[in-house]
Amino acid sequence: MRVLKFGGSSLATVVRFAEVADIVASQIGTEPVGLVLSAPQGVTNTLVELTDLAFLGSDYLPLLQQWRQRLAQLIEDATLRTSADQLHAVRELAAAQDERLTEKLQGIRLLGYCPDHIKAQILGMGEQFSVALMTALLKGKQLKTVLLDSVALVKSQGDYLNAVADIAASEQSFAAALSKQQAQVYVMAGFVSSNVQGELCLLGRNGSDYSAAIVAAAVKASVCEIWTDVDGVYSADPRQVKNAKLISHLSYDEAMELSYFGAKVLHPKTIGPLARFQIPCYIKNTLNPSAPGSCIDQHSSGDSLVKGISSLEHLALITVSGPGLKGVVGMASRVFAAMAREQVSVSLITQSSSEFSISFCVAQSDLKVAQQALAAEFELELANKLLRPLHIQSDMAIVSLVGDGMRQHRGVAAKFFASLAQARVNVVAIAQDSSERSISAVVEQKACQDAVKVCHENFFSHIPSIDVFLVGCGVVGGELLAQFQRQQAFLQQRNVRLTVYGIANSKALLLDPKGIDLAHWQAQMQDAKAQFSVAQLSQFVTEQHLTNPVLIDCSSAEPVAGLYVDFLKAGFHVVTPNKKANTASLDYYRQLRQVAQQHRRRFLYETTVGAGLPVIDTLQGLFNAGDELLAFEGILSGSLSYIFGLLEQGVSLSQVTQKARDLGFTEPDPRDDLSGMDVARKLLIMARESGLMLDLADVEVEGVLPAGFAAGTAVPDFMAQLPQLDALFADKVAAAKANGQVLRYIAEIRDGRCKVAIKALDLDHPLAKVKDGENALAIHTRYYQPIPFVLRGYGAGAAVTAAGVFSDVMRTLSWQQEM
Ligand code: ADP
Ligand code: ASP
Ligand code: MG
Repeated sequence: MRVLKFGGSSLATVVRFAEVADIVASQIGTEPVGLVLSAPQGVTNTLVELTDLAFLGSDYLPLLQQWRQRLAQLIEDATLRTSADQLHAVRELAAAQDERLTEKLQGIRLLGYCPDHIKAQILGMGEQFSVALMTALLKGKQLKTVLLDSVALVKSQGDYLNAVADIAASEQSFAAALSKQQAQVYVMAGFVSSNVQGELCLLGRNGSDYSAAIVAAAVKASVCEIWTDVDGVYSADPRQVKNAKLISHLSYDEAMELSYFGAKVLHPKTIGPLARFQIPCYIKNTLNPSAPGSCIDQHSSGDSLVKGISSLEHLALITVSGPGLKGVVGMASRVFAAMAREQVSVSLITQSSSEFSISFCVAQSDLKVAQQALAAEFELELANKLLRPLHIQSDMAIVSLVGDGMRQHRGVAAKFFASLAQARVNVVAIAQDSSERSISAVVEQKACQDAVKVCHENFFSHIPSIDVFLVGCGVVGGELLAQFQRQQAFLQQRNVRLTVYGIANSKALLLDPKGIDLAHWQAQMQDAKAQFSVAQLSQFVTEQHLTNPVLIDCSSAEPVAGLYVDFLKAGFHVVTPNKKANTASLDYYRQLRQVAQQHRRRFLYETTVGAGLPVIDTLQGLFNAGDELLAFEGILSGSLSYIFGLLEQGVSLSQVTQKARDLGFTEPDPRDDLSGMDVARKLLIMARESGLMLDLADVEVEGVLPAGFAAGTAVPDFMAQLPQLDALFADKVAAAKANGQVLRYIAEIRDGRCKVAIKALDLDHPLAKVKDGENALAIHTRYYQPIPFVLRGYGAGAAVTAAGVFSDVMRTLSWQQEM
């Protein structure tokens, strides 16, 4: 016999029932089909709810009416697909169920009590309806169909709601039944069975998979197929992880571990009977019957390292600890005996090697009972302080990696925990099974999905993601977005997924869970309403389960720089060309670095000095290797480099300033450049990077213009007054020239002091030839002397600055890729 089981997801409507009947018909060959069915989707849940409402004394009649209508609709929809005769039997069954259900619910409500055996009878009704309807449809297809009574044939032991199969007894009952009636299709209800007293017992929620395995084992089926709504077993729940991979083959052990730790596609009890008789199992898709599905059998598949990632949610972690546990024989067994007595199932256990504590997970819904059972069991020990009060951590989840191949490879656990750290998930407890086939971590429920996602990324898809939020979309920000758009193909080639989820300016914040269309962001910004704040962005990141958020600040705003610490704390990397944070107070400067380290996030600001030139990274590289700064001289402003180059050629100060402004080389108010403050900030960043813990006030600043010149005037007035200084500057240039020198605006660090000022340089000075907007940095260190280490190139302009920011953004991935 071939056993085929169809789950509730395959039985949601009559169209689905009919598709199942078609699949069954197409499978009829030399062997008969044993067809095991669940209840129509959602019906068992409705029955559970009805029972609960009755038990609580609440009004269950509206829901009862819904249940009636659902069955009536299914029967009604089936009229076109089979004869009235066949449907008559289904109607009678539905009427009989209605009567029994109504009566039982009344009883429960009256007594305020619902014994388990009554609950089992109610919850099992959905399956019995399914088999009646399917039998009618199959008979309508002229297939020789026999309905077998699973309650009578599937034998079990244990409690009414969660019984365990008695395979030997089931084998006998099936042998007897099958010898009496020959058929092409034997239809059977899943989920239900009976104990030795012949009372109905359920096989546990979602237990129809287990029913199929029991039937397969009892009749020694050639195959057991579980038909559901996905193509097979995936590397993670495809509902949670979009690019989960289909697994073509799993060993029984792998399937067992995955399902035990939460892969809902298969009930964990299913594998036992199949493995015992080495019956191959296939997971198939009712919606895509031609797909090959996943095969589960006895063969180990050592090929891939990790097969799948699963998660088990809604758990509580209980810790029993205290000196009374140490060296006392039988304490652990008392803990678990107490759980077993109350039928509380335990899903993960860890014990400290000092035997001082035992921690284990139970379903959150069992927590109260578990606590009471432990309190009763250890009353004496608790009273005498031999045990500490029970420690309870609620709302926990287990994330597990499963794979036969894991034991032959080192470093899986390291990569697992590094992934959890990367997802900023705190690991509460750890367990590994001794066969090294699975490794599990207990984490907070709210972090579970992120944990699964990042582990899947690192073990399977290898497509790391960068989740971008940009604040400041002016010249540099706009250019950066254009570069992101242009580089999409290149990023794809490098297997990186970069998505811009948010863009903000001082007026509004645009957020899009699908990622902003970079071709049309300007238009969308017009309609954006939200306001930029750490809370807004954090909430978005949490809701969308983004695991590598990067805040890019392309504004030059001080208030935004003041939020970096909060962003880092909220899990964002921060990348910026904005100099304000690094030149704020030393307290803030230190706090930024501490917080970034604590939260394992990057704070990157390569473009704050020398734009695209690799200044910061180079300095850090030198100093990390033990080098030390002796002195520094540099031209750090592209606009001043341009202005002083033209002054040297004899152009007047007012003309050159006008020209630089027209070309967009200066700020809208050229005094922002001419004041020297921007250069002073860059120099301070260099100094701090080199270990000089100075403040902005410690930098001696000599502006380009005489102090107080045209102070307080508007830009046009200032530009109009500027020719007054032409003669002065012409004289300065001529005097320098007479000495064989040129004027440059120089930032320097010497003897631990910082200064920015106009300097006359000899023509053979390394910075004398630097003009036309170029930057140059001459770095004198212990290793680089007497000839300094020189960096030179364009140090301003939207394109190079944006490219530098882009490069920093890519560096947020580097430590993930090292894994
Ligand atoms: P049925 O009603 O057929 O029993 P279930 O809802 O019980 O279906 O199980 C199928 C669901 O299991 C899928 O829709 C999927 O969301 C979920 N699932 C969880 N983990 C996995 C996994 N690793 N592979 C495939 N499906 C999974
Ligand atoms: N209908 C039952 C449940 O929902 C059994 C099953 O679908 O597997 O629990
Ligand atoms: Mg299921």
